[in-house]
Amino acid sequence: MPELPEVETIVRELNNTVKGKIINDFWTDNFKSNTQLQNFRALIKRQKIIKAERKGKNILIFLDKNLVLWIHLKLTGHLLLGQYIWKEGKWQSLKKGVYLEPQNRFIHWVFSLNNGQQLVLSDSRRFAKVRLLTQDELSKEKSLQELGHDPLASDFTEQALKDILKKTKSEIKKVLMEQRHLSGIGNIYASEILFAAQINPFKKANQLTKIETHHLFLAIKNILNKAIKYRGTSAQDEAYRQLDGTPGNFSRFLKVYQREGKPCVRCGTLIKRIKSQGRSTFYCPQCQKL
Ligand SMILES: [Zn+2]
Repeated sequence: MPELPEVETIVRELNNTVKGKIINDFWTDNFKSNTQLQNFRALIKRQKIIKAERKGKNILIFLDKNLVLWIHLKLTGHLLLGQYIWKEGKWQSLKKGVYLEPQNRFIHWVFSLNNGQQLVLSDSRRFAKVRLLTQDELSKEKSLQELGHDPLASDFTEQALKDILKKTKSEIKKVLMEQRHLSGIGNIYASEILFAAQINPFKKANQLTKIETHHLFLAIKNILNKAIKYRGTSAQDEAYRQLDGTPGNFSRFLKVYQREGKPCVRCGTLIKRIKSQGRSTFYCPQCQKL
């Protein structure tokens, strides 16, 4: 699932490419009724894209008339900017190359822009959430209100991290991924951050030492910033792509995630994977001792 660095990359690209463009038309095959489609289309047509923002793992595209397009990519969703035509009962890309790769061909949402381009959402599993609402309605959305600190915001300080940790007996990896504590971190970056900080993923949050907390704080900022610099991670089974359909470049910097059975880059011990509740945790049993 796209996490903070992937969503941040997309939002920055949106601001560089579609800001100021007007949505000329809209299509989806995700609505249950034709009325729903007509209503959505009527509202969004001729709207100008003012700006895009990230909130946790959410993409917010602000439009004219106080409307906001709220997108959560969930498991397999990603946005692509290209040129598409409706042909033989489906949307087809006029651009070749990466646009024709399998994960870029599940087009279920299409926003046609006034420059002849389409902003589309490709989503093989169809869990992505797309909603159009007013800024007022958005401000009342519970799932957004309840988001915790943004790890990259200046108000997320070492003290703020300490305050989060001392309150909870949960395992530290779970705490990092809990959106009401910190927003935007998922399985990939929680694993990488804990490896960088040399902390065992199963250690209780309130039992971290002062020095571990310090290392954790630095690792959170460093790993996320580096992942943004390299435009996100397209791991083995991840659908995430940049707006131009190309994978993110951070995958080659992964030290533990999906490296089960491979030697640790720090000590040579084989990386371990532990699966629980459908989620894998990767760590070095030597560098990240409990
Ligand atoms: Zn190691």
